[in-house]
Amino acid sequence: MGTRPLVSPFGKFVWAMAWALAHQRGRVLNAARVIYLDSNATTCVAPEVLEAMLPFLRDQFVNPSATYRAARTVRRAVEKAREQVAALLGADAEEVIFTSGGTEAINTAHASVRALWPERRRLIIGATEHAAVWESAQRWRQSGGEVAVAPVDRQGLILLPALEQLLAEAPTGLVSIMWANNETGVVAPMAEIVRAAQAAGAQVHADAVQAVGKLALDVTKVPIDYLSLSGHKMHAPKGIGALWVSKRRRFQPLLVGGGQENERRGGTENVPGVVALGAAAAAMKQGLAEGTEAKVRALRDRFEAALQQQVPGLRIHGAEAPRLGTTSSLGFPGLDAAGLLILLDQAGIACSAGSACHSAALHPSPVLAAMGLDAATASSTLRFSWSRFTTAEETDAAVQAVSRAVNRMRQVAAG
Ligand code: PLP
Repeated sequence: MGTRPLVSPFGKFVWAMAWALAHQRGRVLNAARVIYLDSNATTCVAPEVLEAMLPFLRDQFVNPSATYRAARTVRRAVEKAREQVAALLGADAEEVIFTSGGTEAINTAHASVRALWPERRRLIIGATEHAAVWESAQRWRQSGGEVAVAPVDRQGLILLPALEQLLAEAPTGLVSIMWANNETGVVAPMAEIVRAAQAAGAQVHADAVQAVGKLALDVTKVPIDYLSLSGHKMHAPKGIGALWVSKRRRFQPLLVGGGQENERRGGTENVPGVVALGAAAAAMKQGLAEGTEAKVRALRDRFEAALQQQVPGLRIHGAEAPRLGTTSSLGFPGLDAAGLLILLDQAGIACSAGSACHSAALHPSPVLAAMGLDAATASSTLRFSWSRFTTAEETDAAVQAVSRAVNRMRQVAAG
């Protein structure tokens, strides 16, 4: 008897859907046809941000390090952007270093602490960090350092007694914790983390890539030492970000070259990107003052409330913790996120399973695993994420599409 692989009706369904999707002709993913609920993966460039950067792509293209007058205008634009980014953080402009994005900022902060405080060998990271932090921690280890992981509770919040224990065990150079989680939106108790780290003589780096512009952050009130941010999560383009380094701290650059950024980051400045980041920061600051966050949160809450009515057993991960108003991580019991993603894609809904890099491979999310969720729940989870450009109509249409997709999958599963 031949050994044929057993394919469940559900497996057949997923493959049929994948085949149908792969063979759709002429399908163009564009903003006109797609309801975009994946803003934690990346955001659209805001119109005012595009406007601000265009002159620096067209006419004002000169190298800011040049000596002629045109370069002075460009230098002034870079410094204005530095002030705009600093203003969003409650920081001083000279503390802001422009980078190519969040990943570079994170790597730079870690490398600087490792180089300048070699005797404090321990790096503590949170259990739900982004890959950029995990991989950079790997470098820390390879350079003779030691890495410890602070666990989180079922809501995804750092367990403070466990963090204190890790700090007490070994001289710690740096505690690197994300301010807000990219998959669940859970917001870390950063003030308590800073207190614990400072009591042990450790510095603190906050990966604030998802938090900046969505939470009113102030580095003078929560006295961290380093903060990483990324343009493409806040309506600036990809390939620009910043590292904020407290002026209390010595700093060693990761990239060396022509002495740009006041000798703190070599490489000719990405002027259009820098200007865009400044404009995006100003718009985010204005949005925070005008209550944009509350409007976005209301849409997210309405989406979750409607789905709770329509999908029995729906789980909202991190619901009992402080969460970003932009993010909804939902477990659909008994269903597989892979199939749901396909159906939702066909319905014109862009969302993701876990974080973007995980959705390609659809491995169970390490973030949800760290929160103690079982593999079945983790693999039934989708992430929806909003921005200030998401409308109420789109949110309501997404509710209908999700509940239709869930019903269809439940019917197939029932045979
Ligand atoms: N940290 C978090 C929490 C993120 O969500 C991301 C991007 O997904 C990064 C870091 C990396 O930022 P970038 O894409 O700008 O390198």
